[in-house]
Amino acid sequence: APLLSIDDVCKDYPDGNVRALDHVTFDIHSGEYVAIMGPSGSGKSTLLSILGTLDRPTSGTVSFDGKKIDASTNLDELRSQFIGFVFQSFYLLPTLTALENIQVPMFGRGMTGAQRVDKARQLIESVGMSDRAKHLPKQLSVGQRQRIAIARSLANDPRLLLADEPTGNLDTVTADSILELFAQLHEERKMTLITVTHSEEVADAAQRILRVRDGKIESDKMTGR
Ligand code: ADP
Ligand code: ADP
Repeated sequence: APLLSIDDVCKDYPDGNVRALDHVTFDIHSGEYVAIMGPSGSGKSTLLSILGTLDRPTSGTVSFDGKKIDASTNLDELRSQFIGFVFQSFYLLPTLTALENIQVPMFGRGMTGAQRVDKARQLIESVGMSDRAKHLPKQLSVGQRQRIAIARSLANDPRLLLADEPTGNLDTVTADSILELFAQLHEERKMTLITVTHSEEVADAAQRILRVRDGKIESDKMTGR
């Protein structure tokens, strides 16, 4: 079964009488690296929220690993076990160090303090930030914060990583290093990555580009990667 299936999904916002998604259907298979592109207001963020089960469709179904998401699905469990989020609005906690921020999603999962620290050290190393473990977010650059946010999103070994404009606020060099990190997660960890982006460069790093327009899938193409 596909990792994610979106079947005939519509999303209406009664507020303003908007149909943000209009009969959208597609599958995403385990290990795919997908970019979602489209003009502002085309429905990309809405789609990403629905893919991450943060929002639910007005009609249509979303399935994760062949199982339909419905009223009986434990969404907190699904999200915390399987999905990592790198959204610009998910800020790091300002009073916690980089290493502590990475441990936040590990609480309540039956790990000891030592296990959490150990895991956080591996993650901070994997994003190349070991020398900043004790820094507070305000002592880090925007790109370094993004790296810590990515490490935090990997805390529970998600199968799926969802990113909204992951390089949006970054200079070119930092953006490239985030793209390299994504490529590494994709190749070495076989992670499934879905990223919303305005950047052709970010999209070209993916294997597949879904273009959204007026709430519909306008095109769905492989990049040849
Ligand atoms: P994108 O991410 O491509 O910019 P969005 O998914 O944010 O697009 O928005 C799609 C459409 O839905 C837009 O017309 C937007 O104005 C509308 N929309 C998004 N969120 C809401 C909301 N909470 N209430 C009403 N309309 C919304
Ligand atoms: P509301 O607060 O408007 O009732 P919720 O987000 O609390 O909406 O979800 C209500 C129900 O819809 C929950 O029981 C939940 O399991 C289900 N649900 C949430 N997301 C989805 C989804 N992506 N697909 C199908 N059902 C969903």
